[in-house]
Amino acid sequence: MIEMQDIWKTYADGTHALRGVSVRIDRNDFVYLVGPSGAGKSTFMKLIYREEVPTKGQISVNGFNIGKLKPRKIPYVRRNIGVIFQDFRLLQKMTVFENIAFAMEVIEAPKKLIRKRTMEVIELVGLKGKHNSLPTQLSGGEQQRVAIARAIINNPSVIVADEPTGNLDPETSWGIMNLLEEINFRGATIIMATHNREIVNSLRKRVIAIENGEIVRDEARGEYGYEI
Ligand code: ADP
Ligand code: ADP
Repeated sequence: MIEMQDIWKTYADGTHALRGVSVRIDRNDFVYLVGPSGAGKSTFMKLIYREEVPTKGQISVNGFNIGKLKPRKIPYVRRNIGVIFQDFRLLQKMTVFENIAFAMEVIEAPKKLIRKRTMEVIELVGLKGKHNSLPTQLSGGEQQRVAIARAIINNPSVIVADEPTGNLDPETSWGIMNLLEEINFRGATIIMATHNREIVNSLRKRVIAIENGEIVRDEARGEYGYEI
């Protein structure tokens, strides 16, 4: 469970990215985060995966008050959150296998387990047979599947996705959505920032709209609600 109580985020230059956000996201929810560019969506997600800390207010993720976390506890919280970006952020000189296994190597899992689990998630995301490919040898959709495999390898309870279909064509985007739904079905909470009107209006989920750092709408089976 994720809970924000009167969260304010002001960056060093004085920009108020979030202004008094309070929200509760239950285990296994699937949430679309919508709103104009610069509204505060990325900041909202960065607070969840502890890339940023709030200026004011409380945020808890799975019972941890992560704004006040002791530095040595940060890796434990991060391990429980998978992050996916619009631009994939794969390591270009590493193979598919290495990109994905890396996330388990940093937590010093046993080698045999890493191999087994990596091959398992490669199959789960539909990339069987591609483990020795380099990112440059893959399509955009395939690269995003690698990023998703990397995000889920440690079985996180929360997946945060910042415009995961932003660089993909419509058909490929649907494939990625099916995969995210499957991961949600298997128990993960999903929070996805998106400008994809088509997806939000067809695959109906909870919609939280942020404008100018504030939540202006929160609907259980909402619509995209913007013209573009
Ligand atoms: P969105 O994801 O909805 O586009 P962001 O959370 O990225 O919105 O940004 C919210 C506001 O905070 C914007 O005005 C943006 O320019 C600003 N902002 C984001 N990151 C920083 C930063 N590191 N320093 C200063 N301002 C920032
Ligand atoms: P994203 O929304 O995917 O984080 P952006 O292009 O908005 O990508 O931001 C890229 C990086 O620049 C982020 O780390 C963000 O925090 C930072 N950033 C965004 N807006 C500003 C800003 N106005 N001033 C300084 N840093 C910013």
